[in-house]
Amino acid sequence: MASTSRADYPPELSQEEENYLLSNLKDWSIAHGLTVRPAPSFVQPAQDPSGVLATTAPVTLYPSLFPRSCFEDGLAIQTAYNELYSAIARDESWLQGIVGELVDIDDFVANLWQTHLEVKKEGYVQDLSLGLFRSDYMVHQDPSQSDAAPGLKQVEFNTIASSFGGLSTKVSALHKYLLTIDAYPASSSAIIKENALQQSKSASSLAKGLAAAHTAYGFSQSSRPLCVLFVVQDGERNVFDQRHLEYALLEENGVRSFRLPFGETLSHTQLDSDRTLIYTPPNSPATTYEVTTIYFRAGYSPEDYPKEEDWTARLHLEKSRAIKCPSILTHLAGCKKVQQVLATPHSPHLKRFLPNGKVASRVLETFASIYPLDDSEAGNEARKLATDPSSATKYVLKPQREGGGNNVYRKAIPPFLEKLPETHWPAYILMEMIEPPPLENAIFRNGELQRGGVICELGVYGVCLWRDGNGYDQKGEILESWEAGYLLRTKGDQSEEGGVAAGFGAVDSVCLV
Ligand code: ADP
Ligand code: MG
Ligand code: MG
Repeated sequence: MASTSRADYPPELSQEEENYLLSNLKDWSIAHGLTVRPAPSFVQPAQDPSGVLATTAPVTLYPSLFPRSCFEDGLAIQTAYNELYSAIARDESWLQGIVGELVDIDDFVANLWQTHLEVKKEGYVQDLSLGLFRSDYMVHQDPSQSDAAPGLKQVEFNTIASSFGGLSTKVSALHKYLLTIDAYPASSSAIIKENALQQSKSASSLAKGLAAAHTAYGFSQSSRPLCVLFVVQDGERNVFDQRHLEYALLEENGVRSFRLPFGETLSHTQLDSDRTLIYTPPNSPATTYEVTTIYFRAGYSPEDYPKEEDWTARLHLEKSRAIKCPSILTHLAGCKKVQQVLATPHSPHLKRFLPNGKVASRVLETFASIYPLDDSEAGNEARKLATDPSSATKYVLKPQREGGGNNVYRKAIPPFLEKLPETHWPAYILMEMIEPPPLENAIFRNGELQRGGVICELGVYGVCLWRDGNGYDQKGEILESWEAGYLLRTKGDQSEEGGVAAGFGAVDSVCLV
């Protein structure tokens, strides 16, 4: 049998081969919790009134080809990124400069900053912070130099609610299983082989990060049992991704956790006089728990704050003695504006946070060009690029938002800016589009298979636990820092956005080449 070459990867399947692969993929996914709650467009809520249904998470049939050197670089650089972003989160005065440019034009950022100031007025009572980060990249190959080695360019750095660490562990295991049971045709064995697949340890490793914070919190102030609190969105469909972290936290670390919808914070938690955070489980209010660590899987988007009271809830949590993952300053460090300030060509800021020149230059290599849209010299240059329909096609415009679906791409940028008052332009950053080499795969979503050109985005998780210095300056110390596994997300190449939960992409794993 002729072997599949990289150019015709993934291999064609006969109908019988496809049936075998899909029936195994579907059963394995459900049996192992590689699942999501169904979208209302897929299963109408009236058909599942008691909320018992789950369906397979969108996945790729094959692991996507990924350059080994890029994968290894991404993992190797993660602890430098942990150092960078924890240093930024500790540097209140530097962050104030960044936020200062946004507060008048971005209410969400202004509310976050105001919340920080209110806690600061009373004094922070917890000097430990936890980051469960994810640095996202695409492979970049200069089209004019097709024989040059591919490199990684960073899409963004997430400091809050970095998702898919649970499902990523599962999908890498799924692809390995499909290889083991010979679901991939024999012709592809030269490419898909055990040492080309990489298992992602993200679920365990992120849970270990939560457990490290839990332990570092120390003894109970109130002689109650201790717990970690997952603050979540109501009606979250990606719930099993989070559940895998909860189960790993309990089974591998013996740490109890609870899920609390963000909107119910004030009804189920209280602050003691010394600002110990007490959680009352609705099912057994007689036993209350002391919260060591608050893990935010909500609160990153303005939609999470429909009522004024939701900001009171964020303030209430931030004031508490519990360790926050992330703190408000860490959340703000993840603003696209921070990434832009670091990555604007000739920026002097990186060395402030990464004094080791070698480390700083490795990080710098992963930056794509990003410009402000303000009235600085770089900003004026960017305004020209963004408003000219011929140059705008090389860029993406991003607001200070998370969770997907917020960006403006390429030719849509000039008409978008035309409608936006110029005073609001500095709320956005302009980023060069990263153009990965063409790849193919097949995505299985909602029971349907779609084949074709795809774009992959590698996420590398990082765990960092640190102690803030006095006055939130650059002092302080990192207590724990490690690379925590990876995520590969893959979308059709016709889609600009890549969010899996937002309905654009699929979870995937790497097949290193
Ligand atoms: P969010 O915080 O909402 O996830 P991102 O910066 O990750 O925002 O952008 C969302 C998606 O848009 C990414 O997952 C990626 O698919 C696409 N994207 C963003 N920036 C770039 C870029 N510079 N080049 C190519 N695609 C990009
Ligand atoms: Mg993000
Ligand atoms: Mg993103």
